[in-house]
Amino acid sequence: MPRIGVLALQGDVVDHMRALEAAGAEAVPVRRAAELDAVEGLVIPGGESTTMSKLLDIFDMFEPVRKRLDAGLPVFGSCAGMIMLADEVLDGRPDQRSFGAIPMTVRRNAFGRQVDSFETEIAIAGVDGGPFRAVFIRAPWVERVGDGVEVLATVAGAADSGDEGPGSPGGRIVAVRAGACLATSFHPEVTPDARVHQYFVDMVRG
Ligand code: GLN
Repeated sequence: MPRIGVLALQGDVVDHMRALEAAGAEAVPVRRAAELDAVEGLVIPGGESTTMSKLLDIFDMFEPVRKRLDAGLPVFGSCAGMIMLADEVLDGRPDQRSFGAIPMTVRRNAFGRQVDSFETEIAIAGVDGGPFRAVFIRAPWVERVGDGVEVLATVAGAADSGDEGPGSPGGRIVAVRAGACLATSFHPEVTPDARVHQYFVDMVRG
């Protein structure tokens, strides 16, 4: 059973641990470098990327995580976790840091206030068994992907969002994979459907 850590400085930790266990992994919280050393994969949960960036510095965890990601540790970032994996963050705070593990530009809070939170059914490449109910909470989207980044999902546009005006979620990239890195704008841990976590557990096993 792969042992997968959930970065537990801030954010949606417990739900990710439950989903990882449902997907056949042993899930452990990671707050210290010694705990990070003991895992074969890492989830960076949703929450607030500005706060997470600060806490990573305060707890001396930024460099240890960055080093393991550089060394190829499989990682899954959801929402704020996606922002933490990007090499470029738009609408971030000036002092906000990210790991640059995926060559992509991510815009924070991109779906705008009027649709702070919404749910929609999306197709995710590599996730079989029909549409996935994706929950977006003050979510980012991906505006640029670099070489080697595979787009796994977009939100469908007018038919689903009901609107294609400025700030609408039409046609935006919301899930990507680059090698051992997976990122989603949405929160798969808040629904009982563990298929995205299963996809990540399979990546770690891979
Ligand atoms: N808006 C948050 C951020 O910028 C992300 C929201 C979330 O993780 N649900 O970090």
